[in-house]
Amino acid sequence: MAEQAARAGGAEHTGDGVTERVVIENCAVATVDARDTEYASGHVVVAGDRIESIGAGKAPEGLTNVVRRVDGTGHLVTPGLVNTHHHFYQWITRGMATDHILFDWLVALYPTWARIDEPMVAAAARGSLAMMARGGVTTAMDHHYVFPRGAGDLSGAIIRAASEMGVRFTLARGSMDRGTSDGGLPPDFAVESLEGALSATEETIDTYHDASFGSMTQVAVAPCSPFSVSTDLLRQGAELARRKGVRLHTHGSETAEEEQFCKELFGMGPTDYFESTGWLGDDVWMAHCVHMNDSDIAAFARTGTGVAHCPSSNARLAAGIARVPDMLAAGVPVGLGVDGTASNESGELHTELRNALLVNRLGPHKEKALNARQALRLGTYGGAQVLGRQEETGSLEPGKLADLVLWKLDGIGHSTIADPVTALVFGAAAPVTLSLVGGLPVVEDGRLTRADEDDIARGARDEARRLARIAEDAG
Ligand SMILES: [Zn+2]
Repeated sequence: MAEQAARAGGAEHTGDGVTERVVIENCAVATVDARDTEYASGHVVVAGDRIESIGAGKAPEGLTNVVRRVDGTGHLVTPGLVNTHHHFYQWITRGMATDHILFDWLVALYPTWARIDEPMVAAAARGSLAMMARGGVTTAMDHHYVFPRGAGDLSGAIIRAASEMGVRFTLARGSMDRGTSDGGLPPDFAVESLEGALSATEETIDTYHDASFGSMTQVAVAPCSPFSVSTDLLRQGAELARRKGVRLHTHGSETAEEEQFCKELFGMGPTDYFESTGWLGDDVWMAHCVHMNDSDIAAFARTGTGVAHCPSSNARLAAGIARVPDMLAAGVPVGLGVDGTASNESGELHTELRNALLVNRLGPHKEKALNARQALRLGTYGGAQVLGRQEETGSLEPGKLADLVLWKLDGIGHSTIADPVTALVFGAAAPVTLSLVGGLPVVEDGRLTRADEDDIARGARDEARRLARIAEDAG
């Protein structure tokens, strides 16, 4: 990438009210707008934190206050990727119980997870965020649901890590209150009380949720799953979210065992159970949704309930293949998620574009299941939609936030693949030359701009070892 920069950095509003511009040109452009508009060679002009113009050929002449010009020759620019399901704390428990299905994997890991504390969660959050940011994620989320007593300010630690990295962020404040003595899966010592979970969630919303356009931090209400949460927590959690005007997130229909659990305990499948507790709606998104019949998919479509599709995690835990082509055909909003890195050791979202496409082609729709453009849409606009932020981010259009990624496609991994979107989705994980969040650089030439990767890797390794020692001593 050649630079003709006036100075390093991204676009900013200066104190004297002058909007600074960043110009990116000579690159392929995939806007992921409603018509999938693409330019073989085009430009994007960023003004302040927004996209000002986008189109074919060179940027318009006569632009003022251009602080940086980026020659994007050999690159593709796309909207920044949006991750819709993750558990950051699992960054320090990777590579364990690698040959298990979900319930056995959870039971193997709960005792270790129940010993996490604030420094561990902070180090894990930094690791998870760094891995995603360097792979083109500009909007991240963390579903955090393990809150051991006396562990410190875990929500604050996670939010500070996201703010340090410079990515847009949703904290889904999770909870579990159904321990084994109430017929749940997690051990009793790993769960909160119903009242404790609700009041801590409300406090997190009051402290951190920012509903404004371009907000960097949002909070969602996120009880963990039907088998770790009481019916009261689901019901009252939904009421809390609607009273506060925030979104709702949980795990749903992930495995055949969960379906069985719901039928035995509640006399119905997961989707009917969610509907009976107020958990279907256009303010809800659910992770996985693998075991869905036609009427479940129709219920999601009718209510506008979103899905976080996590193909690698579903494969890792042998959960099955979500019916993404059927969901899309029915009009269900679908985004992509890496899921926690204890069930997806890589923690990268750009490789999930490829995995979503390949895994779905193994299902009944075969080669017609998904194409490269649809996979890119899942990872960008679809993700923004399920997080309720499609007016702000997820596609490159004038007036939207300047959340974008410049992918290098002229290197050894991609230079001979005919089409840039095909190269990005079907090819190897593409290097990120530049990633902007709200016009500000988060990645430059493959490296994080605001954090030291080596320092993050060391810190996470030390905390992973400390957790392993504590868990071993607790036996
Ligand atoms: Zn999950």
